[in-house]
Amino acid sequence: MIAKIASGVAEQLLAHAASEVPREACGLLLGRREPLSIDSAVPARNVATHPETSFEIDPSTLLSQHRAARGEGLEIIGHYHSHPDASPEPSRRDAARASENGQLWLIIAGGAVHGWRAVANGRVQGRFTPVALEAG
Ligand SMILES: [Zn+2]
Repeated sequence: MIAKIASGVAEQLLAHAASEVPREACGLLLGRREPLSIDSAVPARNVATHPETSFEIDPSTLLSQHRAARGEGLEIIGHYHSHPDASPEPSRRDAARASENGQLWLIIAGGAVHGWRAVANGRVQGRFTPVALEAG
């Protein structure tokens, strides 16, 4: 599986992740599903109780972006979050809350952006399969 990522988006995610250390940064990904492409990223407040080890996207961002995306003919195709401990793979906690809905999960870790998709019987944590990100 390959996802196209619009120019500047990866740089935006890396900068957001760096600015939130030691907390996890998070936000939404807007784009299209067929073919899978990430057009833009919307940073959100991490409202998790323990933002150093988990993330929860501010529900008000989710609500407003659903509306905004529809207006532009885009969809929320997934979200991103960072791992300040630099582990590139989804954690067990990530797997526990991911449903097998094909949503895109980007993880920013160790100065790079790693693509994953939540599926049934994924190779990682039983829930995630890798997605190659292609500039485009
Ligand atoms: Zn995580």
